[in-house]
This record gives sequence, structure tokens and C-alpha cells, in this order.
Amino acid sequence: MMHLTRCPTCGSRRIKLVRRDFKREFRGRAYTVPKLAFHECAACGEKVFDPAAVRRIQSYSPAFKRSRSST
Ligand SMILES: [Zn+2]
Repeated sequence: MMHLTRCPTCGSRRIKLVRRDFKREFRGRAYTVPKLAFHECAACGEKVFDPAAVRRIQSYSPAFKRSRSST
């Protein structure tokens, strides 16, 4: 897990690591990634996901359900 001390978008130091259920929607289908760890900026609302978090999101997303053959 990477650790950010500064928001890459606005430069604020109020960015922090959170771990909570992450809700998203894809083409009208809502899905939840349970207990996802990611950085969130309290100043601008930016969310930053490291590669492990992105893989978890993809594994839950309907958009990636059929693309497991490669990688
Ligand atoms: Zn920010």
C-alpha cells in the first residue's frame, strides 16, 4: 500500500488513507467493493487508488467480468 501525504490534484495535506465499502455504478448497475482501502482528499474529494485497489474494483465491476483471460 502506497502512502500519500499530499493530494496529487490540489496539493492539500488533508488527504488520508481510508478503508470502507466503496460504491460505484456501471451502466446503471450498482456494485460495492467491501472494505476497499484508498486515499481520499478531504479538501477536494479526490480519490486515489493504488494498483491493488484498482484490481479489487475491477474484480467487482460488471465491466470487467468477462476480461479475466489475459494478464
Ligand atoms: Zn485534493
